[in-house]
Amino acid sequence: MMRVLLLGGTTEASQLAQALHSARIETIFSYAGRTNAPVSQPVTVRVGGFGGADGLATYLKNEGISHVVDATHPFANTMGQNAYQACRKSGLPLMRLARPAWRAQAGDHWTHVPDIANACVALPKPATRIFLAIGRMHVDQFAARPEHHYLLRLVDAPEEPIALPDYHVTLARGPFDVSGDVALMQEHRITHVVAKNAGGSGAAAKIEAARALGLRIIMIDRPLRPDVAEYANIGAVLAWLTHSTERGV
Ligand code: NAP
Repeated sequence: MMRVLLLGGTTEASQLAQALHSARIETIFSYAGRTNAPVSQPVTVRVGGFGGADGLATYLKNEGISHVVDATHPFANTMGQNAYQACRKSGLPLMRLARPAWRAQAGDHWTHVPDIANACVALPKPATRIFLAIGRMHVDQFAARPEHHYLLRLVDAPEEPIALPDYHVTLARGPFDVSGDVALMQEHRITHVVAKNAGGSGAAAKIEAARALGLRIIMIDRPLRPDVAEYANIGAVLAWLTHSTERGV
């Protein structure tokens, strides 16, 4: 019997959950538990880490999972590695729903950096106003550049103090739209945006808004993910599930 574990936490994962529900495919949706009130899903939801790759392998066995779809954020690479190792150990098929990376267009001002530490280094020298659009987790690293004002957009009000001397928090959950993001950046007189190259549509508004306003983007490139079959759209995931079941993989 087909029983899918869907590793989520992205707009695309929520769209896939809806499609699996409509296709009457039994699905368990997994959240890491990073936000206080996660988006509700039409399928069974579980919340919290599995306890590494071994914990996940045990979970897969106990729950009788037949297929795993990794639809986590492109920067959630620990979960991606764990899913890869657990599925290898368990002999289960794994695929990834991955959003194509954003690409700079003619006229864009992008500085590519490999990670957060290098994003800090790449910030301009004179003090300016920066939209730090990277979530909560790594914000404190920007204390290394205390001269700037930072605009933070977070899903939940921060529970721990933020280690930056000059910042403003706006609370909001994506997906966002371009006109709203243009207005936000104008209101806060933003000159630079720091973004992770998440790809997809849910978080693209800030990229298009920066383009419209001619702002510079410090773009953090994606970390390497394991070598897993990748599909960019939901129809392809449904076809993969059906075919891998027919093949008896
Ligand atoms: P990560 O660094 O790859 O994962 C750290 C640990 O969190 C994993 O080892 C796992 O714990 C647990 N975990 C992660 N995703 C999980 C899931 N879907 N279900 C159950 N446990 C999960 O991940 P992260 O970057 O902290 O991201 C956490 C979640 O937020 C993911 O679901 C991701 O899709 C979402 N998200 C991340 C970003 C981002 O920029 N990183 C942005 C938007 C949304 P155990 O080892 O105990 O199993």
